[in-house]
Amino acid sequence: MKNERQFRKILLALNHFLTFFILVAFVISCCMMLFLSTFADSLDLELTNENLNSAAKITFLNVILLSLLFTIIDAVRRKLTVKRPVKRITEASQKIVQGDFSIRLQLQSTVWSDDSFNEIIECFNKMAEELSSVETLRTDFIANVSHEMKTPLAVIQNYGTLLQAPDLSEEKRIEYAKAITDSSRRLVDMMTNILKLNRLENQQIYLNTEEYDLGEQLCECLLQYENVWEDKNIGIETDIEDGLTVKADAELLSLVWNNLFSNAFKFTESGGTVSLSLASEDEFAVVKVRDTGCGISSDIGAHIFEKFYQGDTSHATQGNGLGLALVKRVVDIMQGEIGVESTLGEGTNFTVKIRR
Ligand code: ADP
Repeated sequence: MKNERQFRKILLALNHFLTFFILVAFVISCCMMLFLSTFADSLDLELTNENLNSAAKITFLNVILLSLLFTIIDAVRRKLTVKRPVKRITEASQKIVQGDFSIRLQLQSTVWSDDSFNEIIECFNKMAEELSSVETLRTDFIANVSHEMKTPLAVIQNYGTLLQAPDLSEEKRIEYAKAITDSSRRLVDMMTNILKLNRLENQQIYLNTEEYDLGEQLCECLLQYENVWEDKNIGIETDIEDGLTVKADAELLSLVWNNLFSNAFKFTESGGTVSLSLASEDEFAVVKVRDTGCGISSDIGAHIFEKFYQGDTSHATQGNGLGLALVKRVVDIMQGEIGVESTLGEGTNFTVKIRR
């Protein structure tokens, strides 16, 4: 196969040389004949057989020599301006095929070759960059998922072993079983979030749009946290504009509200307050979820919408860093806006704008 390709390459090169040689020879012959006939006419030379013979020989030799010279010059030119860059690009592409995405090509000097190769090289470099960032995302994602899975799995393993002890008190048995259930729930939550995020990121989303009362939906979502705010003694404040409807996918939007409320309650200490407001602003419905929790520093704030990012490690066991990534994705799909204002130690305010 390789030999065959080599042979075809040689044949192609020969074909190119011959065609070029014949073309140049033809052009030079025409020029010479034209020149000789005008030259003979102007000198009024007698065209004897002898004269003609020697002129033909010289002309033929000149034609061969000049054609060869031009063919060689063209071959060198082609090697420098076409074959060399093509070889560089082919070799680099082969490296990409083998999984080396770090490869980048230097731009050609435009003195020798035209700009088209530089356009190809620029595209190639962009492609390599894109592939390498996708690869980094993929490996980071695998590392993050494995890391997030390790802790709950270790807990399940340890408590499972403890549960096997023969003379275990009822109290301990319940405690260990609860730890196992909590960790399994964490794993299930994480998998559900990963699947949701994957669906939202990689698939064509068909929005199930309907017109509905946003205030009602917000209140329903908030009420799901009644137990939490009662247990933690958190105060609730609401300011909801009546009858504000939006045309949106209710199921997707409920993901946004649930994640914002769950964070607000998670990061607010007992005795704090969580407030919810809804108002219309031009073509937007503006939802604000405020809390008087620990707040977010500006360093952390810059990353909170990234996958698996957890700024506050003291609450790490209660989440997996996917909530706000999901929220952001849904808001983007709905062509809305999300912003966050926060002061460390004082609280956080998330503002979501949804097109009505
Ligand atoms: P998780 O809550 O599972 O850690 P999220 O993606 O929901 O993941 O949030 C990412 C990070 O953003 C959190 O770890 C936390 O540091 C920060 N954060 C989000 N909401 C709040 C909030 N209301 N108050 C303080 N910090 C918050």
